[in-house]
Amino acid sequence: MSVLVVGSIGLDTVKTQIEEHADLLGGSASYASVGASFFTDVNLVGIVGDDFPKPHMEFLGNRGIDLEGLEMVEGNTFRWSGEYHWDMNIRETRSIALNVFEHFNPTLPASYHDTEFVLLANIAPKLQSHVLDQMCRPKFIIADTMDLWINIAKDDLLALLKRVDMLILNDGEARQLTGETSLIKAGSHIRKLGPRFVAVKKGEHGCLLFGENDFFSCAAYPLEDIHDPTGAGDTFAGGLAGYLASLNHNGPITFNKLRKAVVYGSVLASFNVEAFSLERLRTLTPQDIEQRYESFKLMSKIEVLE
Ligand code: AMP
Repeated sequence: MSVLVVGSIGLDTVKTQIEEHADLLGGSASYASVGASFFTDVNLVGIVGDDFPKPHMEFLGNRGIDLEGLEMVEGNTFRWSGEYHWDMNIRETRSIALNVFEHFNPTLPASYHDTEFVLLANIAPKLQSHVLDQMCRPKFIIADTMDLWINIAKDDLLALLKRVDMLILNDGEARQLTGETSLIKAGSHIRKLGPRFVAVKKGEHGCLLFGENDFFSCAAYPLEDIHDPTGAGDTFAGGLAGYLASLNHNGPITFNKLRKAVVYGSVLASFNVEAFSLERLRTLTPQDIEQRYESFKLMSKIEVLE
């Protein structure tokens, strides 16, 4: 089964306390679609300006991502710039230019309407809803969001939540959305707003998964060197959605399937942060993913003491 990914595609300038790089391929949908492409077919919906470098387009196409839903229009591509503190869980946005995104109103190609899995990567919740309006009964819908939309478009976000199966957001956003300090309470609270499943990301501390009567805590894969955390959350979401879509589904999406998908998402994200932009994903192989998945499984195992 395939995944439709919609979100931002942009050019990022990223500064850490060690290095700075400008005009990198970025955007939530770039990370998410490449992450998903390791597991399944991907239909990408997004917009770029006519300044978008051809090699980036070729990279996405060479990963087998379907680009019929990617519009190129006159104007400048979306741009974002961010700076990380020594504690890389903390990031400041230095600038953002919506550019061609400002008037983006995606019309899906007819061949995308019955894509079974949908990943609404981070963009305005109104646009995420607009994409859903054009879909014929997807099997599973995942949405990602960010603090900006909780601040400026909360009603749109709440309307979207009633239509999705799963929400992915980070710990600060979960607290902001619910007013709860406990993430456990926040997870249950968000489930009451609509999504049956909620994944709360905690940066280098892993992720919490909530279901109806189920809970799973997934650690983050331990890395010595993190070069650029940008897009970790989007790659996580892409890996998770791609893995889920790659399974042979006769029945519903179960919590156990989601547990495994969360681990694959975490593995993908751990590779992504090893280099700037999507550089590490360019050379990543399915064997690398399987190897890290196996070692992650071993190091997360808890023996029951007699
Ligand atoms: P993450 O590190 O997972 O928060 O995602 C970072 C990516 O999100 C960067 O590549 C940015 O281009 C993109 N991004 C930043 N701000 C926004 C926004 N307001 N809407 C959509 N994408 C954004």
